[in-house]
Amino acid sequence: MTESVRHDWTLAQVNALFALPFNDLLFQAQTVHRAHFNPNEVQISTLLSIKTGACPEDCSYCPQSARYSTDLEAEKLMEVEAVLEKARAAKAIGSTRFCMGAAWRNPKDRDMPYILKMVEGVREMGMETCMTLGMLSKDQAQVLASAGLDYYNHNLDTSPEFYGEIITTRTYQDRMDTLSNVRDAGMNVCSGGIVGLGESDNDRSGLLMSLANLDEHPDSVPINMLVKVEGTPLAEQEDLDPFDFVRTIAVARIMMPKAHVRLSAGREQMNEQMQSMCFFAGANSIFYGEKLLTTGNPDAEKDQALFQRLGIQPEAAKGYSDEVEEYVIEEALKNKQQEGKFYDAAVN
Ligand code: SF4
Repeated sequence: MTESVRHDWTLAQVNALFALPFNDLLFQAQTVHRAHFNPNEVQISTLLSIKTGACPEDCSYCPQSARYSTDLEAEKLMEVEAVLEKARAAKAIGSTRFCMGAAWRNPKDRDMPYILKMVEGVREMGMETCMTLGMLSKDQAQVLASAGLDYYNHNLDTSPEFYGEIITTRTYQDRMDTLSNVRDAGMNVCSGGIVGLGESDNDRSGLLMSLANLDEHPDSVPINMLVKVEGTPLAEQEDLDPFDFVRTIAVARIMMPKAHVRLSAGREQMNEQMQSMCFFAGANSIFYGEKLLTTGNPDAEKDQALFQRLGIQPEAAKGYSDEVEEYVIEEALKNKQQEGKFYDAAVN
């Protein structure tokens, strides 16, 4: 068994992990998981689409691409205050990280002032901030980092070998460059991929190898299951064997022992038993989607009920406990001062 953080995985080694008997693989993944994390904690992020659809890229799985005709309605960049309102709602349902996504090839200079205000506003609420805006230049990464952006998401999607079958408008190297710009600017990297695209076993290994052999492992690794959307080229793709999905989570956990492995897209299609198996395999982060930010939050309540049945606690935001404590003390002091300014007329 390997528990050390490695960056030199070979394809044969990764394939050997995938080929382990299922119980052996899960046992190994759970053992690695327990060496680095509380096995009964799951981090909760909320994802909000701040600019939807009309994307010039051609990612074959994505309903937001302008090249495919799907039912998705395109929307302009949201106003800052509307985004902050959603963030407040996310916080109220227990999210510790707020992820904002825009369907862009890359952010334009004219959008940056709004983006920065969103980052600053969400941070002031005591939540971690994450954005996914497409490719980033070195300068843009620096500016976002200075505004306090904690995480930047940019997925590798699949193996370098299969990549060209899925996307033609940007290269694998473009993606790697964005990841290093993000890392160099001092932000946390969130990067993972999608399974069920029609990739081979070697491609699933190749994706995890590309992530784990980066100079530093990503801090978050979202593993997505393809959600087939009518109108996209992958709408008729054959279903992936659910056990292959669980295996991918387990192998990601073993290869990147300190990363948060996130159960992402496709979770809504999974039953509770499948999700529990993913948690056992080492997934320790989930998304509450944006539609959960509306009244009632039935899906969030369903998640909370599942957590309760499994004895899982939401993980607290890192690095914010002191700030939250300071805020509470400041508010209490303010209240005290107010008390001193006004005398209580009822007493006399
Ligand atoms: S870049 Fe993002 S939003 Fe645009 S098509 Fe690809 S996955 Fe969809």
